[in-house]
Amino acid sequence: MNRKQFLQAMSILPLGMITRPLRALENFTDSWSPTPRMPVLFLGHGSPMNAIEENVFVKGFRETASLLPRPRAVLCVSAHWETNGTFVTAMQQPRTIHDFGGFPPELYAVRYPAPGSPDLAIACTELIRTTTVEPDHHWGLDHGAWSVIRHLFPKADIPVIQLSLDQRMPAHRHYSLAKELSSLREKGVLIVGSGNMVHNLRLVAWDKLNEAGFGFDWAIEAQELMRNLINGKNHQALCDYHKLGNAVQMAIPTPEHYLPLLYVLAQQKDTDVIRLFNDMPVAGALTMTSLMISAS
Ligand code: ZN
Repeated sequence: MNRKQFLQAMSILPLGMITRPLRALENFTDSWSPTPRMPVLFLGHGSPMNAIEENVFVKGFRETASLLPRPRAVLCVSAHWETNGTFVTAMQQPRTIHDFGGFPPELYAVRYPAPGSPDLAIACTELIRTTTVEPDHHWGLDHGAWSVIRHLFPKADIPVIQLSLDQRMPAHRHYSLAKELSSLREKGVLIVGSGNMVHNLRLVAWDKLNEAGFGFDWAIEAQELMRNLINGKNHQALCDYHKLGNAVQMAIPTPEHYLPLLYVLAQQKDTDVIRLFNDMPVAGALTMTSLMISAS
């Protein structure tokens, strides 16, 4: 490193890195005026093929979209972005990530060119105080996000950012971290969790992937238990999901598809109402159960 490079490293670059987020935060504070409280969505995404197929679940996504006020931006917590630490996508134009294998070329051809929102990303890093949230410039939109959001906003004209799942955190920490984002609902931000409540790929009946309504007994039992806890607003029990018995253990062999639900439930206010949709098993070991939390 020569003297010039050293000076750049010590002064100009850090200064740039500091002023850019500050400007983004000022933009957010100044321009994102208060709005009526936005709904919050948990979307069961299931097979990536739901991105391009016409089926009962896609119909459910569209029907729900018709009930939504137009958001300023979408903040998505997807099962498919697990990291060490918490990150938020902060690029202007996120790429479409095809993070799956063995699907037809039509699916790989799909692009979802929604812009990002660096201002909102930086606001997230400020709002979350209990852990460090780092801006990310490498990820983009994984299929957990775009395969469902494209049915909500097919024109891709609403900015989308993603928040990662810190795989080192216990469930209750994800829930409390999510609460730190709750003021975004009053800034016109639609918070979307994308996963599946029952998701055991090892036990999936692959020959019944298109059979909506087919669920193994344990999957139906687990979904019923979770549905009751959601309707009863028993979030503590849902955070302690590993204590909910064998059926739930089989439904959640790994937590990544379940945790986005906790980000959504954490936004619920006492006066909010919950509407379940796509509340069906598929392929034996998945459920597509989705929900909208809204002020009315
Ligand atoms: Zn998935």
